[in-house]
Amino acid sequence: MGERLRNIYTQFPGGKHKVLTLSYDDGKIEDRRLVDILNENGIKATFNVNSGLVNDHFDEYYKERIPMEEYRDLYKGHEVAVHTVTHPTIARCPKEQMIRQIIEDRRALEEVMGYTVRGCAYPNGSYSDEVVDALKACGIRHARTVRSTGGFYLPEDFLRWHPTCHHNFEGLDNLKKEFLALKKTQYLYIFYLWGHSYEFEVNNNWHVIESFAADMGGQDDIWYASNIEIVDYLDAAGRMQVSVKGDFAYNPSAISVFLEVDKKTVECKPGITTEL
Ligand SMILES: [Zn+2]
Repeated sequence: MGERLRNIYTQFPGGKHKVLTLSYDDGKIEDRRLVDILNENGIKATFNVNSGLVNDHFDEYYKERIPMEEYRDLYKGHEVAVHTVTHPTIARCPKEQMIRQIIEDRRALEEVMGYTVRGCAYPNGSYSDEVVDALKACGIRHARTVRSTGGFYLPEDFLRWHPTCHHNFEGLDNLKKEFLALKKTQYLYIFYLWGHSYEFEVNNNWHVIESFAADMGGQDDIWYASNIEIVDYLDAAGRMQVSVKGDFAYNPSAISVFLEVDKKTVECKPGITTEL
């Protein structure tokens, strides 16, 4: 009795408060150049691809898609996620087709990648409560919309994950500067950029992502993560078992969780009890 209540908060890995993540759709050949730019700057992304369109050499945009045999090497260190088999406006599909579009894309991608695929981006930004239910039933943990928030807050619902902005947003540079200057630690903050790599080719504006990546990469106070790494980390943080007194915590997950305890960072290693 009588001891002071400690302030204990979840932090990102390494005791950080900011995370950068990207999400790029459709798996067109321009992803190769985009991945090079991201890798050079230590930035991670989620690539949402359509397993049923890879054998069509040209689609409506007359742009080739990456052959699936290349996914494993190209997207190494990033996340490959569902974008449905054939890119329908999915909220308009009958329920059975919704489920097949999701689960069959997931199955095909898992076969290539060798890990469980648990992410998604809504094709044409189309979703509904029914689509969200279908995703849940298919074991999908996060799904990105095309509704930009212009903000840095974590989503309330990872299956309705509204990004910060598209790379063509005219205020991108200002948002980038604001995020880099952000030193507040009251909340966990996220910058979530999305788009299609072929847009850089079509609009001849590769410089947009080159300068974004050069400025945002290599920052000591930013965690660079794919979408699923953020979800998995926050899941692990949510499973932390902290004593009422706040003097020890058990981490039942397989990854370290970082807690701020009275302004000090404590790494809680997986599978053990840590003194706080
Ligand atoms: Zn798409």
